[in-house]
Amino acid sequence: MPSIFTKIINGEIPCYKIYEDDKTFAFLDINPETKGHTLVIPKNEVDKIYELPDEDYEALMSTVKKLSKHLEKKLGARTLWKVIGTDVPHAHVHLLPYDETWEHGRNLKLTPEEFEEIRQTLEYKPE
Ligand code: AMP
Repeated sequence: MPSIFTKIINGEIPCYKIYEDDKTFAFLDINPETKGHTLVIPKNEVDKIYELPDEDYEALMSTVKKLSKHLEKKLGARTLWKVIGTDVPHAHVHLLPYDETWEHGRNLKLTPEEFEEIRQTLEYKPE
């Protein structure tokens, strides 16, 4: 059965998408720890990042790097990376724009309108 993230990639479950290319996809975490908390995922569904073929791993980390710079530019905040993976068995990297009030595991409560506003700010458009 496809993972919840594969269903998001396929458009079967909605998300606040900010980026997509042929191998990777990125969207806002629905339980954000900081404003702009983003998940970057490979389209190739594997549980653990280190199970990815090199080509997909390199594509994933290239998107992580690109979007980290993008988030920093848009929000003026250093981007932290986090890899947990105990809840969703589809490899993903958390990008957390740093906020000094940030606490691991503490979630912000945002309305759909606030999510959409952040999505519009962070949507990646190649220059
Ligand atoms: P973990 O596997 O521990 O890295 O956590 C999985 C992350 O996926 C959590 O931060 C969840 O809030 C996030 N998440 C789960 N389902 C969704 C969804 N449908 N849309 C956005 N984020 C999600």
